[in-house]
Amino acid sequence: MRILIVEDEARIADFLERGLRAEGHFCVVANDGESGLSLALEGDFDLLLLDLMLPGIHGHEVCQQLRMNKINTPLIILSAMDSLEDVIAGLRMGADDYLTKPFSFEELLARIETIMRRSSAISGEVQPIRAGPLEFDRQSLRFSVGGNSVKMTAKELAIIELLMSKPGTLFSRERILSNVWGLNMDPLTNVVDVYIGKLRKKIDRQSEDSMIETVRGLGYRLNIKG
Ligand code: CA
Repeated sequence: MRILIVEDEARIADFLERGLRAEGHFCVVANDGESGLSLALEGDFDLLLLDLMLPGIHGHEVCQQLRMNKINTPLIILSAMDSLEDVIAGLRMGADDYLTKPFSFEELLARIETIMRRSSAISGEVQPIRAGPLEFDRQSLRFSVGGNSVKMTAKELAIIELLMSKPGTLFSRERILSNVWGLNMDPLTNVVDVYIGKLRKKIDRQSEDSMIETVRGLGYRLNIKG
């Protein structure tokens, strides 16, 4: 899954990120309310973990803004504010669950599983995502082209999954950067282009036209024909 962690305390963000990555999830960390909100508004995440006491915008506000903008990504509030009023306020703002700090990582995993089961039961998801000959099984993290399994790194998978989420849609370098590397990357870096090059070698094989189209000066899109 693609998980956005909105947490200003580096120690906690790091603990969450390392634990969730070890479970096979892809994580992006935002250190304040504003960047968390703007990343979550792009709607490319499967789960949001949201702290409440954040610099910039308070977590309650982030949550409310997302729901007002019809972003219904499952959301768990993680906060040391553990009064009943805070819990109720968080749930009223549209959070799906609430975990008070400190919590054990196992408890978080259990809550995530429950929420994801619930949301996939509603949306009927959990199925592999497909675009033309490309198939990505989000549970086993297996990627295949025309039925042939292809080995991918975590970053490569994150980029292709993003492009496959909306075939034909243009993704700017900045959007790919923020979704895959977080917001603290220099937008002038050519890391996205380097990774797109690696992906093309893996998915296009002998084909002359790349499935990943470069839109000069703007970004990339998945161009699947037939
Ligand atoms: Ca905090």
